[in-house]
Amino acid sequence: MRVTAAFSRLLRLKGVWVRGVRFEPDRVVVVVALCRRRLVCPECAFSTPHRHDIRPVSSVWRHLDLGAWRLEIRAQLRRLSCPVHGVRTEGVPFARAGSGFTRDFERLVAYLASRTDKSTICRLVRINWRTVGRIIERVTRDELDPHRLDELFDIGIDEVSWRKQQRYLTLVCDHRARRVVWGTEGAGEKAGDEFFGELGAERSAKLRAISMDMGPGYAKSAREHAPQATICIDSYHVVALATKALDEVRRDYWNELRSLGDQQAAKRFKDARWALLKNPENLTTKQAATHRKLKRAGGAVWLAYTLKEALRSIFTAGLDLDDVTVLIDRFISRATRSRLAPFVRLAQTIKKHREGILAAVRLGITQGRTEALNNKVRLITRRAYGFHSAKAALALVLLTCGPITLTLPHELHLHP
Ligand SMILES: [Zn+2]
Repeated sequence: MRVTAAFSRLLRLKGVWVRGVRFEPDRVVVVVALCRRRLVCPECAFSTPHRHDIRPVSSVWRHLDLGAWRLEIRAQLRRLSCPVHGVRTEGVPFARAGSGFTRDFERLVAYLASRTDKSTICRLVRINWRTVGRIIERVTRDELDPHRLDELFDIGIDEVSWRKQQRYLTLVCDHRARRVVWGTEGAGEKAGDEFFGELGAERSAKLRAISMDMGPGYAKSAREHAPQATICIDSYHVVALATKALDEVRRDYWNELRSLGDQQAAKRFKDARWALLKNPENLTTKQAATHRKLKRAGGAVWLAYTLKEALRSIFTAGLDLDDVTVLIDRFISRATRSRLAPFVRLAQTIKKHREGILAAVRLGITQGRTEALNNKVRLITRRAYGFHSAKAALALVLLTCGPITLTLPHELHLHP
């Protein structure tokens, strides 16, 4: 077998034949030519037999490594004039428009990005994290299920920070399918309007429930574009507020100890932070001991802790609507009587959103259904820190939690 024929079978690149192979110090270079005579626009299906001009365009793509060798594909392409996209370099079947990588290479990177961490990918594949970001943007754009917004009934809309300094993504999840189906940069009403704009009136009219936080933004947008849908409050937002209130009480008490000059006690108490904020079933032995001490000491901090735990247990136990209603009302009155300012405020907030909180229970949008996806999204966005753009961060979320089936190159080419 000739070397060009051997490489042709090895690389399995669609629509090309291998003209030559050469070894350079750090890479193998494979020169290919397109089989087809017609020129195809890289952005659309337009094709033409006519070249725009005779100037050739030298193009290079990185393909899957060959053992330890970096593998480069080169070709001389032609230019065409597309009635929609103007003068462009012709598209090739084995790479996406504007990419310096083959589809097989991008498939591998997208798969790795959905499964493993930044340093592993960058070292294994020898590209930097920003390049990973650009690759997954392209893969997500191509592979995301185009019908993902067609059958939505119960959805959640929420913001998540993808970077420090309060940079947010708004994500919409399909509660029934338990996946993220849509996202955009930014938060609040504007992001909500963007979603409903893309969803359109007909599909918006099919929504039964929309769950969200207690802020005014998404609610305003939902009421305007899907007035028939019930607005529900996701219980993890309610619990998060209680945790925040507890932390405020703890901090006030700690400041008080410090101002009284009791440095030792203040230091001990600072260490108690995690013992208080963690769920009791997740405490370490040392934290559990701190916990018992706090309990014995009683006082404002322990009261705040029992209030927060009481609220949390309302949503974790899988109780029915009647029970939850009784317990929520009991919580509101206990918190109001507690004389702890952060909890009095919390009680007011819960009272204001009582209907939405209960609607979530009634319609089955419970913590059990939303929490796993929510936790997964938060883990993923932490990995997206360091990306250059919100689009790349969003692509990583959709790649991992969205309706995408990623296929590895060898799974795609089952028959050589
Ligand atoms: Zn075109």
